[in-house]
Amino acid sequence: MQYHVNGFNPGDPDVFPAAPNPWRSGDALPQTVDVLIAGSGPAGLCLAAQLAGVPQIRTMLVEPKLGPMEKGQADGISVRSMEMFQAFGFGEKVMREAVWINETTFWAAGAQGSLDRVARVQDVPDGISEMPHVLLNQARVHDMFLDIMRRAPSRLVPDHGLKVIDLAIDPAAAEYPVTVTLEHTAPGREGRTSTLRANYVIGCDGARSNVRRAIGGELHGDAAHQAWGVMDVLAVTDFPDWRMKSFVRSRDDGILMVLPREGGHLVRLYVELDALGEDERVAERGMGAQDIIAQAQRIFRPFSLDVKDVVWWSIYEIGHRLTDKFDDVPEAEVATRAPRVMLAGDACHTHSPKAGQGMNVSMGDTFNLGWKLISVLTGRADSALLHTYSGERRAAAKGLVEFDHKWARVVGGSAGEDMEFDPATAGLPVVARAFINNLPFTCGLTIQYEPGRLTGAATHQHLATGFDIGKRFHSAPVVRLADAKPMHLGHCIDADARFRLFIFAPAGDAGGAGGAVAALCDWLERDPASPRVRHTAPGEDPDAVIDTRAVFQQSFRDLDYAAMPSLLRPRVGRHGLCDYEKVFCADLKSGNDIFAMRGIDRTAGCVVVVRPDQYVGHILPLDARAALSGYFAGILRKRS
Ligand SMILES: Cc1cc2nc3c(=O)[nH]c(=O)nc-3n(C[C@H](O)[C@H](O)[C@H](O)COP(=O)(O)OP(=O)(O)OC[C@H]3O[C@@H](n4cnc5c(N)ncnc54)[C@H](O)[C@@H]3O)c2cc1C
Repeated sequence: MQYHVNGFNPGDPDVFPAAPNPWRSGDALPQTVDVLIAGSGPAGLCLAAQLAGVPQIRTMLVEPKLGPMEKGQADGISVRSMEMFQAFGFGEKVMREAVWINETTFWAAGAQGSLDRVARVQDVPDGISEMPHVLLNQARVHDMFLDIMRRAPSRLVPDHGLKVIDLAIDPAAAEYPVTVTLEHTAPGREGRTSTLRANYVIGCDGARSNVRRAIGGELHGDAAHQAWGVMDVLAVTDFPDWRMKSFVRSRDDGILMVLPREGGHLVRLYVELDALGEDERVAERGMGAQDIIAQAQRIFRPFSLDVKDVVWWSIYEIGHRLTDKFDDVPEAEVATRAPRVMLAGDACHTHSPKAGQGMNVSMGDTFNLGWKLISVLTGRADSALLHTYSGERRAAAKGLVEFDHKWARVVGGSAGEDMEFDPATAGLPVVARAFINNLPFTCGLTIQYEPGRLTGAATHQHLATGFDIGKRFHSAPVVRLADAKPMHLGHCIDADARFRLFIFAPAGDAGGAGGAVAALCDWLERDPASPRVRHTAPGEDPDAVIDTRAVFQQSFRDLDYAAMPSLLRPRVGRHGLCDYEKVFCADLKSGNDIFAMRGIDRTAGCVVVVRPDQYVGHILPLDARAALSGYFAGILRKRS
């Protein structure tokens, strides 16, 4: 991280100076806001954490609960979410605190009443990401986002004790077209209502979303008519894989999943309970924690399970559901108006917890939306950009719901079909083979946005075959030239709504005059047609919108920082200090050469455009000036 740029600031560099003239003071509700976020689950908080960094955007987050969550709900954090956490700056903290899932085991009933381990597989395939798959209480993830919000220039905190009960949109109004009715939930104020007007309302208010209802959205899908119990326990057992993620299939009592949790002792169990009738609701069964424990003990036989403490439990029914659209604009009106109300997370898609996707996909929604809202609200992009949110994320959610359907069928296969050894599954039970096949999906790495406004065509994909256009930027090791620091290139992407241009140099190019890198940098820096010049507003830092970095093939010892183009040595802050963190080299010492690892054309080099949400927007030749300008002109306004 970079700080002390405008002078020495003592203390914690994660605490940003508060913005002068805060727009809110005291507890009084404002009459108007730019963005109203309904709900402080993972979706709402991930969005609020991004908006909190832009104090000129007046953001308010309402939450009916009276304080932050402490326990329960989701715990699975995919490698993709960990990459995103890295961009927020708390990836390392989560890595330290969470439990890492390295291996998954499969158990099945054997002869003479035994329960045997029948397969074990590596949980995260090698090389798929630099980040681990971890489990951590959802409440701690909330805390990480809340910390960011509190320390951001806007010092944003949720308004607890308030829920959205209705809203109305006036499409003709240019300013604050959404009128929102809020209801108080705090003791003494229950039932009282207030109204405010917003430019945008984002419904992150969970599966029973009032925001969804208000815009006429419905969840479509089906339920599996099967009750499941989930509980976080402290227990004593002789089951050997208590600290491994395990699937356990008993002979006659169904299945359970063991998920070790943070801290070395806590464990989560997902336990198959009763089948439900076609029209039966799980609550009607009146089951409780003791039913989950008793069923888990039956499934674990002959191993013992002595539960000492039930920290949290819930009984639920699996449903796979999706809304038609994630915003308020009907298809017929897309050309004439931009969205004002959008949905994210469980408000627009629900699935089974077995694949551990709920929290991840919900945060993925608002990581996609955050930079788009910031771009529109700061004048960098026109509001039509917001149409891309529903298009991109509904397709991603549809893929998830379909995957979840298939996975739930394999895991819940009747009479133990999931544990059968089919020759086609290479000596593994069906469920283990399906698990391996699904790993890229469960890691969160299969989302690939379609070519369109934000995703270029694959014409030049061959220039970097390891960076798939439309998929997330797959980081690789590099060495920073100025201080010889080995690091991951992807870790210079912060969650700050900026685009990144990574220039990969052709062989022999050392950045000097006459080379392809210098020619491109000079054009980017000065030419009126360059996206950097066109889309950066007067008074903004030169890399405020598009942050350009270069990666060279040589060792850091063979390059001279002073010989780099001036674009890669920008002067920043009130003292005009040099930014030394724009240039990187292949990590030749470790042998992890990014050019080889990501299939980058060594002769031609290339430019890789990375969107603010870490997805690869485009890959272009170093001299494709018009195509580069065209890509950005399709997204951002001309501001120079
Ligand atoms: C009881 C429960 C148990 C779960 N258990 C598991 C599990 O075991 N494993 C797993 O992987 N996933 C589980 N999930 C799912 C997982 O927690 C979600 O997929 C994930 O939290 C989705 O995040 P979200 O932000 O979209 O919604 P949520 O986390 O549901 O957050 C929605 C927020 O909106 C608030 N809210 C509700 N109504 C309003 C309103 N009208 N106005 C403003 N705010 C409102 C809620 O209080 C809540 O804080 C569970 C969810 C629930 C609700």
